[in-house]
Amino acid sequence: MVRERILTGDRPTGPLHLGHYVGSVANRALLQDEYDTFVIIADAQALTTNFDRPERLREDVLSVALDNLACGIDPGRSTLFVQTMVPEIAELTILYANLVTVNQLFHNPTIKTEAAQHGFEDKMPFGFLGYPVSQAADITFCRAHLVPVGEDQLPHIEMTRKIVRKFNAMYAPALVEPRAKVSTVPRLVGLDGNTKMSKSLGNAIYLCDTADAVKDKVTKAVTDPARIHPTDKGHPEVCAVFAYHRAFNPDGVSDIEKRCKAGTIGCVPCKKLLIEILNRFLEPIRQKRSDYEKHPDRVWDILRDGSARAQQEGARTMAAVREAMKVDYFTAPASSPESA
Ligand code: ATP
Ligand code: MG
Repeated sequence: MVRERILTGDRPTGPLHLGHYVGSVANRALLQDEYDTFVIIADAQALTTNFDRPERLREDVLSVALDNLACGIDPGRSTLFVQTMVPEIAELTILYANLVTVNQLFHNPTIKTEAAQHGFEDKMPFGFLGYPVSQAADITFCRAHLVPVGEDQLPHIEMTRKIVRKFNAMYAPALVEPRAKVSTVPRLVGLDGNTKMSKSLGNAIYLCDTADAVKDKVTKAVTDPARIHPTDKGHPEVCAVFAYHRAFNPDGVSDIEKRCKAGTIGCVPCKKLLIEILNRFLEPIRQKRSDYEKHPDRVWDILRDGSARAQQEGARTMAAVREAMKVDYFTAPASSPESA
């Protein structure tokens, strides 16, 4: 039986953090046997907010590749590739751009939140506004069925589905309509209590942080502001540290919740326990990352091979798309009398 495909990935705007892990990376590593998995390093999408810093892309592409490999993405089973090395994604983006209205993009809630974050309100780059269209091309170029993502991406997957339906109905059914897969932690909060841990917000624990950095960050993390003394009754639902217990300490979380609410565990021991748990979880990832870090050439080879495979898939999809739109000018129609 032919395996279904996954497309998922990250923007190379810095190393990956715990939010990426629980939102998407854990699922992609888990599902790579069951699905033919493509992991994109979306460098063109990184430029939609970091267009003035292209010189950082090389390092950030490598960094995101290292994080994926460290988390168990196996290049023998999954295809890890760089977006701009697959020009068909750009070609598809141009064609899909006609199937979406500017208003749909302006009303996309994730675009709204991120535009405010980047101060784009009255000077929004065309590339930024259109990145969900390019994301539709990222997903469909390899005819992916499933997209493991964090909750913030759901409006984009919905837009991809709309584009696919419109394309297939208007031209011919050449594209696969994907479905999103959110994890049990669809959105991990930031250390500052912001609703999303994010590279851009500087409120993240990175997968490559040292044990000391983790200790430092958790020690300073925002907890229940109403709690002054360790014996005060706490409100775990507003505490970032509790959210991390929920995500990384499944066996201990209900006990922590009870004790926090009863005022029988203070924030200091609660944080100490979390620091231990996170460092225990991160240690093998750090180890694996540092092994790969010693051989960057091998990582670039993995990306080159992955990009070549992805590009072949892109070419296959583009041929089907051109045929569906009847713009395959130089391919003789098989049934035309001249060619018979
Ligand atoms: P940036 O700050 O560059 O926008 P980002 O943290 O949003 O970075 P992306 O590369 O855009 O990272 O996201 C990669 C994947 O990780 C997406 O599927 C996204 O939904 C998921 N993700 C990112 N942050 C979180 C989070 N805090 N909780 C759950 N999933 C997340
Ligand atoms: Mg993002």
